[in-house]
Amino acid sequence: MTSFEHDVADSLGAHRALFFQSNDVAAYLDGNSLGRPLGASVERIARFVTEQWGSRLIRGWDEQWLSLPETVGDELGRVALGAAAGQVIFADSTTVLLYKLIRAACEFNPERTEIVIDRANFPTDRYVVEGIVAERGLSVVWIDAGKTERDGSDGDPDDAFGVTPAQVQAALTDRTALVVLSHVAFRSGFLADVPAITALVHDAGALVLWDLSHSVGVVPTELDAWGVDLATGCSYKYLCGGPGAPAFAYVRLELQAQLRQPIQGWLGTRAPFEMGQGYTPADGIRSFASGTPPITGMLALQDMIALIGEVGIMAIREKSVALTEHAIALSDELLPDAVLSTPRAAHRRGSHITLDREGFAELVPKLWAQGVIPDFRGPTGIRIGLSPLSTSFTEVELGILAIRYPGE
Ligand SMILES: *Cc1c(COP(=O)(O)O)cnc(C)c1O
Repeated sequence: MTSFEHDVADSLGAHRALFFQSNDVAAYLDGNSLGRPLGASVERIARFVTEQWGSRLIRGWDEQWLSLPETVGDELGRVALGAAAGQVIFADSTTVLLYKLIRAACEFNPERTEIVIDRANFPTDRYVVEGIVAERGLSVVWIDAGKTERDGSDGDPDDAFGVTPAQVQAALTDRTALVVLSHVAFRSGFLADVPAITALVHDAGALVLWDLSHSVGVVPTELDAWGVDLATGCSYKYLCGGPGAPAFAYVRLELQAQLRQPIQGWLGTRAPFEMGQGYTPADGIRSFASGTPPITGMLALQDMIALIGEVGIMAIREKSVALTEHAIALSDELLPDAVLSTPRAAHRRGSHITLDREGFAELVPKLWAQGVIPDFRGPTGIRIGLSPLSTSFTEVELGILAIRYPGE
């Protein structure tokens, strides 16, 4: 099928018009780094300034603002995470939430001294783990994704792009406190087997934290059913919350009363406005909050969460797979000298692909100048992110053609 035929047949194609369109962008292939705004968000933000902030003023805190991190969190849990109410909260950045959750998980099991993480994980995840390990006298057990022995696996070439259950099994000991992994690898797009790995970690008596930054809103999860302990992720990627929009944390219900996060702030307490002596954590997920909730940062993502609820996460995943399939087919045909650094099996990848070739570092700024916007991921990778509701099949082809025929 041609790109045009794909677009005509695409039952979600009409949703593209709901996003703000910018005239100087021919192909936006970076919605996995910063999602496009919805037109509804342009209005919501303007209305918020005049009708709520401007008019309700300080009285807004008595109304719905204070509980917004949990009400929006519940909605996200319902439409995209497979999480029952009361387990998801918006706050801080992913980096800060990683710190809070990892610290809490390590204190939970103080006789266990090892944190498992992989070398190909996103930098901030690795840096936070290294910082906590230094701070608390713990140690890191590194998994070299794709590099260690593939014992237990069947030699599947897609295993080269991410962390497999066999690798996690080999890293676990009776000293493991926590395993920190990404659901979708930020460079390769490898999709980890969350239920299988979570079960292995639990068998070893440890906790697991999944970073969903590159999967939330585009790859469905069943956090409750899979028994996931902790999760976090960004809202400015596929959730279109805008630059610097707050992250979310998921803490499994049974763990909430047992975990104590390290940033004791007044808005994580039972009665913040009593302004009393001593820190008494709130019940439930609210105890993972620290300071004032980022109300203005949670406006746009409410529109995207509503849209995901309307369209359905399964339908979004289906289009995502079709888009990455299309991108791989076109690159096989038009860019035979580029190396696909992403799993070929659809069920093993998220919503982006990475192609490696010498010269891409110099090419990407030229593409940006032409309004073709993928990402560059060193040393030689072009990363093509496909946000299903805002990206067309024709846009994918335009992007691949621009890489094939630069400057033409
Ligand atoms: C994008 C991303 C982050 C970003 O963290 P911030 O604190 O929002 O800068 C963290 N982890 C992963 C896996 C990501 O993809």
